[in-house]
Amino acid sequence: MTTEQLRLDVGSEGLRARALVRAPGGVHSNVRLRGPHPFIRSAKGAWLFGVDGRDYVDYLLGQGPNFLGHAPDAVVQAVSAACEGGLLYGGQHELEVQAAELVCEVAGWPEMVRFSTSGTEAVQAALRVARAATGRTEIVRFQGHYHGWVDNILVGERGGDWGVASDGQVADNLRPCHILPWNDAELLTAQFEQYGSRLAAVIMEPIMINTGVIEPKPGYLETVRELCNRYGVVLIFDEVISGFRVGLGGAAQRYGVTPDLATYGKAFAGGYPVAALVGRSDLMSQLSTGAVNHSGTFNASVMAMAAVTATLTTLRDRPPYASVEEHGLALMAGLRDIAAKHDVQLRVAGLPAAFHMSFGDADVTDYRSLQKLDLARYERLAAALVDNGIWLAGRGIWYVSGAHGPRELDVALTRFDKTLGEWAL
Ligand code: PLP
Repeated sequence: MTTEQLRLDVGSEGLRARALVRAPGGVHSNVRLRGPHPFIRSAKGAWLFGVDGRDYVDYLLGQGPNFLGHAPDAVVQAVSAACEGGLLYGGQHELEVQAAELVCEVAGWPEMVRFSTSGTEAVQAALRVARAATGRTEIVRFQGHYHGWVDNILVGERGGDWGVASDGQVADNLRPCHILPWNDAELLTAQFEQYGSRLAAVIMEPIMINTGVIEPKPGYLETVRELCNRYGVVLIFDEVISGFRVGLGGAAQRYGVTPDLATYGKAFAGGYPVAALVGRSDLMSQLSTGAVNHSGTFNASVMAMAAVTATLTTLRDRPPYASVEEHGLALMAGLRDIAAKHDVQLRVAGLPAAFHMSFGDADVTDYRSLQKLDLARYERLAAALVDNGIWLAGRGIWYVSGAHGPRELDVALTRFDKTLGEWAL
């Protein structure tokens, strides 16, 4: 079947009406329930092309993965070529060896790799390996950090209390979980004094990108590392977003703190569905005998391994980091200037490769302080920006790719200016 034959040609509204009949909420991930809702027909570089004939300069990038832009030639060609020889063998193949070697070489510190299909699964593998290694079950995770949607790790704040984030979630599965505020070294030290020797792992986004793109305070990661060493606790960096995005070695390299295990996904595969658990070989090799289970029919598929290999080769040989930084900084500055021109108190903070936009002003260091900003108002702005051709979701995160250049900057700032000019708060 050709792509033309697969078209429904009923426009976004027609598609949405049909989608709502057959897919709960009209979507296939709850993250998409709140939009953006125009349907997309294709994407290339930093651009999305909608079924209604609109184009969008894309700063959502599929929630992060399209770090090289959409459909990067090197990745598409490598995947297409590899798939000619079949997609999945139920056995080993050359590309998975190359991909694992590249992950270790390019990221710098990991010694071994296990691939899975999603970040959610990689996190589960990390927790299991940590628990097996320590013989303990309790873990520390932090408020506002996202580690996938599974019962034993998904948390939310409901009526001021932290616990299950979803109806149907089994609260007992969260019992081994201490849910703490992040970025507070003193508080963590005190908690470790109470139960550090019972902990299997501390898991965190080393930059809290999912909630406000908040960097760790100077010295915080070092304190966490030191506490984990002292109490024999496995330190897990969930670098599903930050890995290969904030630099080849992710946040571990950026802040000079090496975890015991880490999870990667998103940016390391050019948009393909694949993730990885990586780490020290003494921990990872617990998976070698089968005593610690980690399985998956589609793990290390030919398509995924070709995507990882081509993406990491590109990142290593033609690193986009300088251009991402240049674009991100110019964009952040331009957005601030336009907001000032319109007399709008806009907060743009974070890193050039991933930054956060909201209304208000506060010293934001964790989940709680982020709530002082007007996040709901930003969500309304994001919807207006989509209407004017900038593709974003309402959570405030802007992702920059190596495909964003001067033209995209110009278009984005012009469309942003127009939106603020006509936008009724
Ligand atoms: N960990 C982090 C930090 C994430 O941001 C995400 C997804 O956004 C996940 C884990 C889960 O990954 P996936 O959506 O691939 O299951």
